[in-house]
Amino acid sequence: MTDQKSIVLVTVDCLRADHAGFMGYERSTTPFLDSLTGESLVFPAAIVAGAPTYYSLPAMMASRYPLALGRDVLGLAPDEPTLASVLKRAGYATACFGAGNPYLSARFGYDQGFDTFQDFLDDDSLPIPTETGSVSSDGWATHLNRRIQAVRPALGPLGVVYDELYFHYCQKVTPAANSLDALRRFPTADVIVDHACTWIKSVGDGPFFLWLHLMDPHSPYYPKEEALALMGHGPLTPSRARYLNSYWNRSDIGPSRLGSHRDDIVALYDAGIRWVDLQMARLIGTLRDWKRWDHCVFALTADHGEEFLDHGGRYHPPSRLMDELIHVPLLLRVPGTAKKQLSKSPFSMVDLAPTLLDAVRLPVPSDFQGRSLWQEVQQGAHSDRIAVSESVAGCTNPFHVENRIGPRVLTVREARFKLALHFDPGGEEFYDLESDPGEQAPLAPDAHKPERRRLLEIAREHLRYSSGGHQETRLRARLRDIRLEWSRSFPQSSDKQASGSHPQST
Ligand SMILES: [Zn+2]
Repeated sequence: MTDQKSIVLVTVDCLRADHAGFMGYERSTTPFLDSLTGESLVFPAAIVAGAPTYYSLPAMMASRYPLALGRDVLGLAPDEPTLASVLKRAGYATACFGAGNPYLSARFGYDQGFDTFQDFLDDDSLPIPTETGSVSSDGWATHLNRRIQAVRPALGPLGVVYDELYFHYCQKVTPAANSLDALRRFPTADVIVDHACTWIKSVGDGPFFLWLHLMDPHSPYYPKEEALALMGHGPLTPSRARYLNSYWNRSDIGPSRLGSHRDDIVALYDAGIRWVDLQMARLIGTLRDWKRWDHCVFALTADHGEEFLDHGGRYHPPSRLMDELIHVPLLLRVPGTAKKQLSKSPFSMVDLAPTLLDAVRLPVPSDFQGRSLWQEVQQGAHSDRIAVSESVAGCTNPFHVENRIGPRVLTVREARFKLALHFDPGGEEFYDLESDPGEQAPLAPDAHKPERRRLLEIAREHLRYSSGGHQETRLRARLRDIRLEWSRSFPQSSDKQASGSHPQST
C-alpha cells in the first residue's frame, strides 16, 4: 500500500451552502456528512469563481477564471493542465463519473486526464432534457400555444387568463407517470456511487483520483421516494410532483404567486441533498472496507447554488451573482489534519485544485491562476482573502455562441463587503454582508468609500490580468470548437451533445 494519498472530489450540482446541515441548516439534509466534521475542515465562505456549471468548473478543475480564454470559449482547452492531468502524470489512477451534465462532457474537454470517464449522456433510458427544465410536450398543444403567444400582446388582460388556462390544460393532457423515477432527468447518486465503488475495487493499491459530479438537487426536482421518507415528507404522487415542477417553472406569473409553492419545491430540493448524503455514506463505507479511507483526501463541494426567490429568481441563471448562487459548502477531510475553526474570509474555488495538490505534496502547475492555501488552512490561519466571481449575464444556453458573448457580471467578495458589477448597463452594487447577509439593501454610493474603492481596484486588476498569458490556450480551444463546428456541418457528425435540446443552465 502506497503512502501517497488518494483524492476523492465530489461536486454536487446546485447545492447552496445554507442547505447543508454542517453549514447550519435547520433541516437534517446531511447527517452523514455532518458526522465527518469532527475530522474535517469546513469552510464558512467557499465561493465559486462563476456560475452556473460552465462558468464554475474551469476554476475547479483547471484553476482558471471562467472568462480568461474569452467569453466565446466554453469548457477546458485541449491540453490545459487540470487537477486530473497533473495527478495522472504523477502516477494516479483517475476516474470521473458524472450524472449526465452535458457541459461536463468530453465535448468541453472535461475527459482530459481521466483513464475512465463516464458522463452518462448516452443513457437512453432517461427522458431527454429540455431547454426550460420544465415538463415539455412537442404536441399540437405546444404549437398552438406558440401561435397564441405570438399574438398575446393583442389579447390585453385576456392574455393573463389564457396563460392560466393553458397551464392547467397542460397538467391535464400530459400523460401520467407511474413513479418519480420515471420523471427524473438524471441518474441518481446511487447509480454514480455504484460505478465509483466498482472502480475503486478494481484500481489496485496505488493512489487514485476519483471525481463524482452528482445532479440529485438539480431541477426538475424529482427526488428518490426513500429520500423524501427520510426527510419526514409524506407520500408524494408523481402527478403532484410534476404539477409542482411545472408551476415553479411558469414564466407568466411573478414571485408573489410562485411563492405559494416555494416551500413545497424546497422540500423536494432538500430530499435530493439527503439522497446524496446517504450515498456518500455508502461510498466512504466502501473506501473503509477496502482500506483506502485512511489515505484518502475527501472534498465535497458544489458547482454553484440555487435560487428560491431570494431575490425574485429561480434555478441558477447567471444574471446576478448573489450569495445563494456563488456561496457553496466545502468540506475537506485530509487524513492527519485536525479539525480547525476557519475564518469567514472567502475561499475561492480557483484555489481548490492547487490546495488539493499541495495537500498530497505534489507541485502546482505555474499555469494555475489560483494558489495553494494549504499551509494557511491547516493552521486555521486563512484570512483576509478575496474571491472574484464572473459570468456572462443571461447566458442560459451556451450551446449557442451568441448566447455567451453578452455582458460580463463580476463580483468581488471579502469577509464583510461585496461589490457586484454589471457591465451592461453599467451598474454597481455594494453590500455589507455583516449587517445585510441576505444582500437585500445595497449601500448608498457614499457609504464605506475606502472599502468600495479597494474592491473596485481588485476588480480592475482582475480584468487586467485574468486573461494574461492565456492567448495560446485560448487559440487551442477555438481550434477545437471550429473543428467540432466543421464536423457538425457534415452528416457523419457524431457530436451528439452539440445538437438537439439541452437543459438550461445546469
Ligand atoms: Zn451546475
